[in-house]
Amino acid sequence: MINLILFGPPGSGKGTQAEKLVKKYELHHISTGDLFRKEIKNKTPLGLEAISYSNKGQLVPDSVTIGILRKEVEANLKVKGFIFDGFPRTVPQAEALNQLMEEIDSEITCLVELRVPDDELTNRLLGRGKTSGRADDQDTDIIANRIQVYKDETIPVALHYAQVDKAFIVDGVGSIDEVFERLCSRIEEQSQEV
Ligand code: AMP
Repeated sequence: MINLILFGPPGSGKGTQAEKLVKKYELHHISTGDLFRKEIKNKTPLGLEAISYSNKGQLVPDSVTIGILRKEVEANLKVKGFIFDGFPRTVPQAEALNQLMEEIDSEITCLVELRVPDDELTNRLLGRGKTSGRADDQDTDIIANRIQVYKDETIPVALHYAQVDKAFIVDGVGSIDEVFERLCSRIEEQSQEV
């Protein structure tokens, strides 16, 4: 199994690259942001809880997020591997993911971080907000909060995997295909080592 954590701040291109990686490596894509948006659209109790956080650019509590992730993994155990996009975003989420991988006799292959400067992230998110209709992509204060939450709570996740030599940085600036090439060479190098 190849299990990738596609890591990076909001607007770094994780969703776009995940779609291409899914096709190339036949992996199952799990985006917790997409899972929450589906719950929000269907106005489920979980969706109503999630929207109160996502509308402010805050993280949904770990217990809720880990629960939704676990359910999605357990419903797809026959796949060749997973791409985790937007998860884990806190160290407790990373610990829960490691435990879940152990339970299914697997492990995280590597974490690949897409690195993009803050001003470019803000421009990309505002651009996306014009077409996606996502409220959290249309307000500069919410965007700034999401980038700050990434720095405070999510970067420690990369350090967690760096301690076991499984975290890598890829330059996220360039064309979609250029960034994709960089990602693939990193992933292939790492998957040969496991
Ligand atoms: P995203 O599409 O990944 O930017 O996620 C959109 C919003 O969903 C985030 O701003 C959070 O409110 C929530 N969310 C998504 N993934 C997570 C996560 N792993 N932990 C906590 N909240 C999350």
